[in-house]
Amino acid sequence: MHEYPNSNNEKKEMEKLSNIHNEKLVVTHTELNEDEEPPSKQMFINEETLLTEYLQNKLERDKTSLSERSSEFLRKYFPEASERDWNNWKWQLKNSVTTIQQLSKFLELSVNEIRPAQAINDTLPIRITPYYLSLLDKYKADQPLRKSVVPVFDEFLVSRGEASDPLSESHHSPVPNIVHRYPDRVLFLVTGFCSTYCRYCTRSHMVAKDKCHIGLKAWEPGLQYIRKNTNIRDVLISGGDPLTMNDLNIEYLLSRLRDIEHVEIIRIGTKVPVVLPQRINRSLVNVLKKYHPLYISIHFTHPDEITPEVKEACEKLTNAGIPLGSQTVLLKGINDNVPVMKQLMHGLLKIRVRPYYLYQCDPILGSAHFRTPIDKGLEIIRGLRGHTSGYAVPQYVVDAPGGGGKIPLLPDYFQGREDSYVLLKNYEDKIFKYPDFS
Ligand code: SF4
Repeated sequence: MHEYPNSNNEKKEMEKLSNIHNEKLVVTHTELNEDEEPPSKQMFINEETLLTEYLQNKLERDKTSLSERSSEFLRKYFPEASERDWNNWKWQLKNSVTTIQQLSKFLELSVNEIRPAQAINDTLPIRITPYYLSLLDKYKADQPLRKSVVPVFDEFLVSRGEASDPLSESHHSPVPNIVHRYPDRVLFLVTGFCSTYCRYCTRSHMVAKDKCHIGLKAWEPGLQYIRKNTNIRDVLISGGDPLTMNDLNIEYLLSRLRDIEHVEIIRIGTKVPVVLPQRINRSLVNVLKKYHPLYISIHFTHPDEITPEVKEACEKLTNAGIPLGSQTVLLKGINDNVPVMKQLMHGLLKIRVRPYYLYQCDPILGSAHFRTPIDKGLEIIRGLRGHTSGYAVPQYVVDAPGGGGKIPLLPDYFQGREDSYVLLKNYEDKIFKYPDFS
């Protein structure tokens, strides 16, 4: 387990602190004559120093801690590397796995996982950080996290209704890297690189060409477009994964957007806190918090992703005043049942990430093995709404193929009308009448 100060250690420290505190009180009390001043200010200063020291030590421990799982993995597969290396996001990127041959050193691959070896260059490449690799089950090919990032032969089977750009983003792109679908907001695709590639990625047609980041010059038409269109009040920065860029590039981009008066809010879509939590370091957070109001939507797939490292990364962001929301793609055999989804949503709330969207999986090429029927999504929402906190219920949406945008779907709570009443079904399937008189 992660070496957060465990309750025993913490208790001992608190006891020590409290003993010192009590001793001081006793000394102060015995030294005082009855007509003397009450315990001096000096005592509070000492107390303050002790508390500050305690809290600083605690913070230091949190910062340098490494989970037992990560430590074991590091010792076993990267014996030359230090914990410091492991906690360095650039080391994580440099040591990511990018071929099936490399993967086979960490996992016992199934036939279905080995078969794409010849053709992988024609499709979405592999990229998995050592950190995320440490969460994968070495033996079970059907482990949910493993299925989300390890390619299988099914990716090469194209089914009816699938397309390489099912959301027609290229048809809604007035200038390179901008998708303008809704009147008051745009999607700004600032990089084609991700630290880990999800096998069901909607943008697999544009991400992962592994030429890494597209560069500052390539952003200029997008920035000019946003500046000229005064109706754009909300910019969603995505890609690829924007948080894989270095601090300087992120700061440049945010400051250019903040310079545009009509841009009210900036949002970032990312999976980095989940697959590369080491990236959420102090210098990045210091950059991000300068550009409020800034929102971050984090791509979570399964409750097993909520590790101590991820919790710590999310805490750093929320403590910097950045509201966090989650986006989850509904995936067959990965998260397509009520208990798993409920566990995920509860886990997110505990780390202060507000469940936001549950997406129906987009019909990209070779995605049939990931897609569930729409009824499955409705069943999950039915299993959450009313059965748990409203905060734990994401909005289930289908991003309409052809560029229709996000369309929310709800179970049949609205049952029609009867005279001047609306018939409504509650979470227990009981019908209620609402007087809808005008
Ligand atoms: S992180 Fe997002 S953009 Fe990157 S591969 Fe996954 S789904 Fe695609």
